[in-house]
Amino acid sequence: MKLEPSGASLARRRAASTRRRGRLLLAACVAAALIVAANLPAVKLLLPAELWREVAPVVSLHPIVAEKMKTLKAESEAQGIRIAITDGFRSEAEQNALYLKGRSAPGDIVTNARGGQSYHNYGLAIDFAIRTKKGKVLWDTAYDGNRNGKADWMEVVGIAKRLGFSWGGDWESFPDYPHLQMDFGLSIPELQRGHRPPEDLRLAEEWAQQAGSKA
Ligand SMILES: [Zn+2]
Repeated sequence: MKLEPSGASLARRRAASTRRRGRLLLAACVAAALIVAANLPAVKLLLPAELWREVAPVVSLHPIVAEKMKTLKAESEAQGIRIAITDGFRSEAEQNALYLKGRSAPGDIVTNARGGQSYHNYGLAIDFAIRTKKGKVLWDTAYDGNRNGKADWMEVVGIAKRLGFSWGGDWESFPDYPHLQMDFGLSIPELQRGHRPPEDLRLAEEWAQQAGSKA
């Protein structure tokens, strides 16, 4: 019969706990290396194209959004409503500056989106306001300039929705009344990964319809 001296069993337990710590450290190192690697452009190239696409930065409104914006102006005018487009494509730097408003810069908070987190950054959103006969720009959602008993603002929203825009005024957490966007079924994370709606009108409209039926 062999009795183990207590000193040896203590040493064995110490060795086991050192091995456990070693394994944990190794796992942490592997995780850290994976995080770093995932951000390397070279590794991005190895990822499936569906996951990440290298694309040129967006610098203007998507052609279909630009086209629908023109139609929105014309159809509003036919109802006796002039609109002003106060914003369209916004660069990431402009978006970041806007994000600081009401935070570290003076003014009220106007957005919860940082650079790259707004549909404006992908040329897929516009902001509108009402223009009076005298040319004054109004953000009065109750104004009835064409005196038909309906708020001009909501008349414009109605036309925009018919054209395929979704309206920021419908957002529950942070309603954005001047905001109109066409997302073509793409989420912000998908856009951030380089996914873009097609520029071909017919194809893009199919996408928009599919997105609409999903919603
Ligand atoms: Zn907007």
